[in-house]
Amino acid sequence: MSETLSFKDRVVVITGAGGGLGKAYALEYAKRGAKVVINDLGGTLKGSGHNAKAADLVVKDINDLGGIAVPNYDSVTDNASNIIKTAIDNFGRVDILINNAGILRDVSIAKMTPQDFQSVIDVHLNGAYKITRAAWPYMREQKFGRIINTCSPAGLFGNFGQANYSAAKLGLVGFAETLAKEGFKYNIFVNSIAPLARSRMTENVLPAHILKQLGPEKIVPLVLYLTHQDTTVTHSIFELAAGFYGQIRWERSSGQIFNPEDPNFFTPEAILNKWSEITDFKDKSFNKTQHPLQLSDYNDLITKARNL
Ligand code: NAD
Repeated sequence: MSETLSFKDRVVVITGAGGGLGKAYALEYAKRGAKVVINDLGGTLKGSGHNAKAADLVVKDINDLGGIAVPNYDSVTDNASNIIKTAIDNFGRVDILINNAGILRDVSIAKMTPQDFQSVIDVHLNGAYKITRAAWPYMREQKFGRIINTCSPAGLFGNFGQANYSAAKLGLVGFAETLAKEGFKYNIFVNSIAPLARSRMTENVLPAHILKQLGPEKIVPLVLYLTHQDTTVTHSIFELAAGFYGQIRWERSSGQIFNPEDPNFFTPEAILNKWSEITDFKDKSFNKTQHPLQLSDYNDLITKARNL
C-alpha cells in the first residue's frame, strides 16, 4: 500500500466551508490531522444575509469525529484579514489556503446590473485577493504555503447567463498563475481547480441522475494531493468531476509571421489571406524565413515576457 498523506498539525483555512465542497475538504483535512479554520458567512446563494450556523455545524461535525476546527463568520469581502487572524490566534500559523467561497447571480448580459456583476467579482476574485494577501506574509516567512483557487468550467469555457461568474473565475486562474511564480522560491505552491459537484449551486440546474454522480467528496482527493507538503505541483489548472481528474493547459497555434517592414504584407487583408495558417494547431513549427527574428529568439522573448 502507498504511504498515507498526513496533514498532522498543518493549519488549513477554507473559505465558504459551511457547506458543499468546502465542508467536504474540511472533514478530510481534519481526519488527516489538520487544524482547520471553517470560514463561512452563512448567506444565501445570491450572497445576502448571514448566519453562524453553517460554520458552527461543520466545526461540530469535525469535533464529533475527534478533529480540531474553529469557526469564523467573516465575509471574504469585508474582513478577510480577520479570517487569517483566527488561524494565527488559535493555531499560530497558516499553511494551506483554499479559496472556495462563492455566490451566484446568474442572468444574461442583456439584463445583468452593475450590482450583479460587481458582487460576484467581489466575493470570488476580490475576496480571494484579500485573504491571500493576508496569508502571504506568514507563508513567505515560514517558507511553506499551499493555495488552491477555485475556478470553474464556466470560467475556462464560458456559460450562458454567467458573464460575471466566468470573469471572476478566469480571473482567479490568472491570479493563481502569477502567485505561483511569485511564491515558488518561498515554497508556496498555487494551483487552480475547475470542479463540477453537487451542491446548492448545482442542485437546481443539473438533472437528478447526473447530480447523483457528482458528490462533493469526489473533488477532495486532488485538492488534498495538491496541498500536501510533498507535492511538487504548482502553476497548474485541473478540471475534475465525479471521479475524473484532468489537466488543462493553454496552447498556441503554429501561427504565421508577418514582416512589419513590408507594408504590403502587414495589413488586415494579409491576415485574412493567412487566417487558416494563423489558427492552425496541427503544425507547431514557426515559419522562420519571413521574419527578422529567428524562432529561438522569438521563443526566448515570449518566455522572458511570461516570466517578467
Ligand atoms: P456552496 O454554495 O455550497 O458553497 C459556497 C459557500 O461560500 C457557501 O457556504 C457560502 O455561504 C459561502 N460564502 C458565500 N459568500 C461568502 C463570503 N463573502 N464570505 C465567506 N463565505 C461566503 O457551493 P459549492 O458548490 O460548494 O461552491 C464552492 C466553490 O466551488 C465556489 O467558489 C463555486 O463557485 C465553485 N464551483 C462549484 C461548482 C459546482 O459544481 N458545485 C463548479 C465550479 C465551481
